[in-house]
Amino acid sequence: MVGGSYAGLQAVASARESGFGGRVTLITAEDHPPYQRPPLSKAYLLGKVAEDALPLRAESFYRDAAIDLVTGCRVSHLDPVRRTITCGQDRPMPFDALVIACGARARRLAVPGAELDGVVVLRDLADARALRERLTAATSVLIVGGGYIGLEVAASAASLGKPVVVLEAGPRLLARAVPPQISDHLVRLHRRRGVTIRLGTGLDRLDGEGGRVVRAMGSDGARYPCDLVVVGVGAVPNVDFAQACGLATPAGIAIDAFCRTGMEGVYAAGDCTVQPNAFADSPLRLECVQNAMDQGRSAGAAVAGRPEPCPGIPRFWSDQFDAKLQSVGLSAGSDLSVSRGSSEEGRFSLFHFRQGHLRAVDSVNRPGDQIIGRRFLAAGLSPTPDQARDPAFDLRTLLPVS
Ligand code: NAD
Repeated sequence: MVGGSYAGLQAVASARESGFGGRVTLITAEDHPPYQRPPLSKAYLLGKVAEDALPLRAESFYRDAAIDLVTGCRVSHLDPVRRTITCGQDRPMPFDALVIACGARARRLAVPGAELDGVVVLRDLADARALRERLTAATSVLIVGGGYIGLEVAASAASLGKPVVVLEAGPRLLARAVPPQISDHLVRLHRRRGVTIRLGTGLDRLDGEGGRVVRAMGSDGARYPCDLVVVGVGAVPNVDFAQACGLATPAGIAIDAFCRTGMEGVYAAGDCTVQPNAFADSPLRLECVQNAMDQGRSAGAAVAGRPEPCPGIPRFWSDQFDAKLQSVGLSAGSDLSVSRGSSEEGRFSLFHFRQGHLRAVDSVNRPGDQIIGRRFLAAGLSPTPDQARDPAFDLRTLLPVS
């Protein structure tokens, strides 16, 4: 298994749970065993989670499951004929089955000044350590990108009392993941907490003094003084060695419902993959923990000779200030959205329908609606839009007794 995060770790665990008795090696380019990533932009930055609480599994897990964990090893080559992988100058390692779960990396900005000291990205623990340290010293923070990273870091930095400006090139926040009503709610939430949000504004240039960033020039012509710039403009799948042997395009490694690639005995899982999904009209790359774990489970089972399809119900969540944002399904492509609860009170859900059938639920501080939404989608059932918008109607009565 190549890649030591949620997908790779789940793949080794599931291979063992499904009865795989052969030798299992989990290879990760990072220097640490697999760890939790969601806290890195939130509780970890706020100093509320210590590093020793981050590992996903205790050391005993690897020992007990007889998993060889190899850290600090970046696979650079896959030989499909000899069926070997190679890390740099090391000797090629043979495999009978391979799971590629190399994830994604932060996209870098291509603007003058992007290489200045004080311009950072956030993807892994090393990034988070550096950001946490810089955040303590920062006097004014500029965030480029109003996606998950940008907004979570903005909320953390503002909670630490730092002045924060977010530049979002698109017309609304988090446009890739949520519908306009949620974007509008997030703008109001962040502004109320003192974050300056500039929509439709990209970054033209960063200026430095003595090699350190001191100011940004926005595409709106304004100057933004800053001594810390956090770039959160998306992620690029890590497909280098897979692409070199024809398994991937720059968009990702194409897999089927069982996480099989085009090569016999080679599977892929997580942020580096593109997979058909019942909620989308064409195969897509889903960047979230739940998808990485679902695909890892499916890939591990396949390695053990017990293939199981991926459930493929997308789920996302994000915490920003006191808002818990959760989504299940995909709202893109829906033709009707109805609201349950109240945006003014900061507790509401949007139920999205296509041709009268439920496709997705987005919630702010209504976790119960998410549980119900998940159950509807898993069962292929749907409330009517009128039932969904009526807070007095108990949606659970429409579900089979569990
Ligand atoms: P993203 O795709 O969620 O958001 C990037 C944002 O940057 C978009 O809104 C885009 O319009 C904007 N943008 C792009 N270029 C820009 C520019 N030049 N100037 C200004 N804005 C620009 O990506 P992200 O926020 O960087 O997140 C990276 C990865 O981390 C993703 O895989 C994401 O799913 C993951 N992540 C997820 C969570 C979560 O699920 N809660 C939290 C953190 C990170």
